[in-house]
Amino acid sequence: MPERIVIVEDEEDIAKFLERRLVYEGYEVETVFDGETALKRIYDDPPALVLLDLTLPDIDGLIVTKELRDAKIDVPILMLTARDAIPDRVSGLDSGADDYMTKPYNIDELLAHVRALLRRAGGESGNEPLVFADLKLDPAARLAYRGERVVTLTAKEYDLLELFMRHPNQVLTRDQIFDKIWGYDFGGESNIIEVYIRYLRSKLEQDGEPRLIETVRGVGYVLRQS
Ligand code: CA
Repeated sequence: MPERIVIVEDEEDIAKFLERRLVYEGYEVETVFDGETALKRIYDDPPALVLLDLTLPDIDGLIVTKELRDAKIDVPILMLTARDAIPDRVSGLDSGADDYMTKPYNIDELLAHVRALLRRAGGESGNEPLVFADLKLDPAARLAYRGERVVTLTAKEYDLLELFMRHPNQVLTRDQIFDKIWGYDFGGESNIIEVYIRYLRSKLEQDGEPRLIETVRGVGYVLRQS
C-alpha cells in the first residue's frame, strides 16, 4: 500500500511540483493550502508523513505542529522554511517537527529526508530492533537488553531510552526530551528529566558497564560511546 503524504503549502507552484514528484516516487499525496484544512485532514485521516510549509495564510506551520502534538498525533513532520529564517529552524524542532529543510531545497535531498523520516517512524520497520553498542531495544516487545542482560524498565524509562536509541550520537535538548516523552502540557517539575536519566543510568550500568547516556552541560543529553 502506498504511504500517504500530506503536503501543506500555499504556494501552488511549489505544491504542484512537490506533489508530482512524490506521486512519481509512488506515494499517495494529498495537498492542502492552509493550516486549518491541514489540521482537519490530518485529524480525520492521519498520513504517514506531513510536509509542512512554515508560512501559511492562516495559522503558521509552528501552530499546526503544536496542535498536532498536543492532540498526541505523532505523524512525522518535515518543516519547510525560508533559508534566512534561522530562529525558525530552532523553533520548528522545538514545536515538535521531526526535521526541517530550508527553501529552496534540492528535491532529491528532500526525498531522502522523506524516506529517512518514514523509515524512522516506521510502520513495520518501527518494530525492528534498535542496536547501539551493547544496548539492544526490541520495540515490538518493549524490552531492553544490555549485552545478554534484560533490563527491566518502566514505561517512561523505556520511552526515554527508545528516544535516545532512535537518535544516537545526537544531542537532545532538555526541551526536546520533555516534549517527546512528557508532552507539551506537562508544567513545572524541572528536574524530572534528570531523575529519569539517573534511573536509566543506574539500570543500564548495573554491572559496571560503561556509561552511554552522557550529559551535555547546559544543553541536554546524548547517547554515545566515549
Ligand atoms: Ca508559504
